[in-house]
Amino acid sequence: MTLPFHVNDPRDVIEADRAHVWHHMVQHKPFETVDPRIITEGRGIRVWDISGREYIDAVSGGVWTVNVGYGRESIADAVRDQLVKLNFFSSSTGSIPAAQFAEKLIARMPGMSRVFYASSGSEANENAYKMIRQIAEKRHGGRKHKILYRARDYHGTTLGALSSCGQEERKAQYGPFAPGFVEVPHCNEYHAAEQGWGALSGEAYGRRAADAIEEVILREGPETVGGLVLEPVTAGGGVITPPPGYWPRVQEICRKYDVLLHIDEVVCGLGRTGEWFGYQHYGIEPDFVTMAKGVASGYAAISVCVTTERVFEMFKDDATDPLNYYRSISTFAGCTAGPAAALENMRIIEDEGLLENCRARGAQLMAGLERLKERHACVGDVRGLGLFCGAELVTDRASRSPLPELQVQAVVADCMANGVIIGATNRSLPGRNNTLCLSPALIVTADEIDRIVDTIDAALARVLSS
Ligand code: PMP
Repeated sequence: MTLPFHVNDPRDVIEADRAHVWHHMVQHKPFETVDPRIITEGRGIRVWDISGREYIDAVSGGVWTVNVGYGRESIADAVRDQLVKLNFFSSSTGSIPAAQFAEKLIARMPGMSRVFYASSGSEANENAYKMIRQIAEKRHGGRKHKILYRARDYHGTTLGALSSCGQEERKAQYGPFAPGFVEVPHCNEYHAAEQGWGALSGEAYGRRAADAIEEVILREGPETVGGLVLEPVTAGGGVITPPPGYWPRVQEICRKYDVLLHIDEVVCGLGRTGEWFGYQHYGIEPDFVTMAKGVASGYAAISVCVTTERVFEMFKDDATDPLNYYRSISTFAGCTAGPAAALENMRIIEDEGLLENCRARGAQLMAGLERLKERHACVGDVRGLGLFCGAELVTDRASRSPLPELQVQAVVADCMANGVIIGATNRSLPGRNNTLCLSPALIVTADEIDRIVDTIDAALARVLSS
């Protein structure tokens, strides 16, 4: 491996990082004695660190982002060409890549119509929330302003988005939160017993969990509830796939109470689950779809909030007040590199048949995780859709209580020491972290899937026997 030309001594970089960089979601104390990891290069689904060590990246950049893999020169070329032509102009004005990407995206989203650009997943969600609030203001005198979110879901790091977060462990210490966000129960069949609904499973459980949304709407007053935001598959909350029965009932409830349905595709979007979007597995007709990570696979910072024409029209039709348009702007959403990268990213997914590969390799990964469940008592449940999979680790299968976080971290560290980067997500108890997370790039091969599963297998055996 060759180091970038400006690095004379890797130690300089490590020490500069140790002295001055504040890493995200990381406790820094260990870095006083252990070197922070510096990733320097990526190709396909592999990355190298500054010491030259090679890893298979089974989480697409750590946070399920690099859907088309590392080192895509055609995306870099598209970005470079665009930057020298026009790097920036505010999104109050149009640009060629913004128009072209919007057209291409909407062609894969029947029923949707308008693309509002932003720069991060949090910001895309904040825009949907603000649109829901403005619709409440315009049509219902502000009364129908509440937004429901689900326990275990996550929608972003900014204070507005965090107010709609169903993971207590992420919210602790950052309150008070914005008013008007109300939680509905989770839909994790593996933990159904905690919900007091009796011994339900499959479709009956899915319907019951959706009914719980109706109960919250009735408790709050339907005239006060304007929106419902849901992840198609809950990501950071534990890779949770709602069972059949859930989504049709959710749609029915939203229509019945005139609640706008916002699907957060920040993780699932652009192929991660084997369809362009997670909601497309379930035949849902959303009012808002937000997406970020896979939109440009991390080659540029771009997110979007997509709406139906019906929603868009509500911001145009106010003849009494021509200034009552959607009054929101974000400087970097005008960076043309984003849609330029996103256009090429979509072309790659299409031309290389990555949705098909995602479905085939996802099935292989799930089968591998099922085998791990047979071999290791600590694997309580395995869940997934496409290349978005999780294995929940428990102390014993009867109690389903989470494996202590330190042991989960030891499994992740063992995989890392053996050349495979995997992730771990949170469950409901603060300080616990017990679902292994796997989301390799959509280009992953059958051999690489085998290597990932075998590495976890060996790690579980080593950590749980010690
Ligand atoms: N929604 C979901 C489902 C996410 O997983 C995330 C990020 N992990 C976000 C929103 C926020 O995205 P960002 O970090 O780009 O703000």
